[in-house]
Amino acid sequence: MQPSNETCPVEDRGITSPFEMVVRQIETVCDRLNLDEVWRARLRHCQRELIVNFPVKMDNGSVRIFTGYRIQHNNARGPAKGGIRYSPKVDLEETRALAFWMTLKAALVNIPFGGAKGAVACDPKILSAGELERLTRRYASEISILIGPDSDIPAPDLGTNAQVMAWIMDTYSMNQGRSVPGVVTGKPIDIGGSLGRADATGRGCTVSAKLAAEHLGFNINGAILVVQGCGNVGEVSANLLVREGCRLIAISDSCSGVYSEKGVDLEKALQHKRATGNLQGAPGTETISNRDMLALPCDILLPAAVEGQIAADNADEVSAKVIIEGANGPTTSRADAILYDKGVFVVPDVLANSGGVIVSYFEWVQDTQALFWEEDEVNRRMKKIIEKSFAEVLRISRDEKLNMRTAAHMIAVRRVASAMALRGIYP
Ligand code: NAD
Repeated sequence: MQPSNETCPVEDRGITSPFEMVVRQIETVCDRLNLDEVWRARLRHCQRELIVNFPVKMDNGSVRIFTGYRIQHNNARGPAKGGIRYSPKVDLEETRALAFWMTLKAALVNIPFGGAKGAVACDPKILSAGELERLTRRYASEISILIGPDSDIPAPDLGTNAQVMAWIMDTYSMNQGRSVPGVVTGKPIDIGGSLGRADATGRGCTVSAKLAAEHLGFNINGAILVVQGCGNVGEVSANLLVREGCRLIAISDSCSGVYSEKGVDLEKALQHKRATGNLQGAPGTETISNRDMLALPCDILLPAAVEGQIAADNADEVSAKVIIEGANGPTTSRADAILYDKGVFVVPDVLANSGGVIVSYFEWVQDTQALFWEEDEVNRRMKKIIEKSFAEVLRISRDEKLNMRTAAHMIAVRRVASAMALRGIYP
């Protein structure tokens, strides 16, 4: 099944790539912070960029060449950290932007990591399990000159999961001649994964949604919810928010969405997707396009799919009170300004979906110490960090009359710039 073409382009105000978008977002922040050009220039450039073209034996006996990337944007604050994306359209620019957002996210929630991202241009849905494993192991070997538990630690992202992390961990360990669980996070529990990691990003989005509702003075119990994307982030967020009493009126995947004013039965919709391959036709629902669902009147809109979904040409249609950015970069810069003028409260990606990287940090700490925590402990500590970060961002946003994204970026850039300045320019 092909993704629909109805999604919005990232292009906004002549900005043609997500990396350019994040660079422009940061320029405004650098101006406000009066940041020296040396540190601005370092932020505008990714520190290390590796492109790999590698062969994979396919099941039919042919050999295909795949292109992959591993990019470290900035490691001033610690080892680079960031997920690996398998997606047909992913390219260097998208990977750069995602790496930059990781630098900002880790700094905002104040965990001792820099930012990185990896990707392979492929469609995991049409690869067999064997092809996926061979692709993953070869890609892991290709990028092993960069990754390592003290240098650069991958995790799951769009199109990858705990099994992919297990193959990366095993490949790296085989090449080292010893088990190195700390080389990736988001692993299965049986090989050093952390309790709570699988749900961490969605759980963090739920914490953010509750904080936003509290801030705006509406009750999460009974709030109307729309979720775009039903993968790791979308499904967990929808599930947890429904448990908090939200009414889920629409949810989508890359093909289309399903809608019911009375409420979509998430379990039945997911059962239908497992049985038929997509959500369309789930019992008690009607089909809605990915674009139309973003315009549904609701209390909480949670985009949890890909970049650039809310752009200049549809931001005005949004009629949500709150946007919780489960995805990275779902709102373009131009759309941000429109939403701000409309009074939509946007909890930006670097804050809303930070639960994943926070618990990845906990997983890495647990692997390093070979001492594992109870799930309650993991969830409690993650919630505490998000609450603290949310309060810091809200305070700056109020004091300096900025939207939440700019306020979050101010905190993050200040921390990264401080680390760069303290370390100085080598040699
Ligand atoms: P996933 O592969 O598990 O799920 C992605 C979902 O989005 C799927 O339901 C897919 O069908 C849907 N989708 C893909 N393209 C779409 C499109 N064009 N329109 C509508 N739906 C589309 O991925 P995930 O891990 O849930 O990641 C989703 C987003 O969250 C990404 O932006 C990712 O970078 C971000 N994120 C993920 C994590 C994590 O821990 N997995 C952490 C932070 C941020």
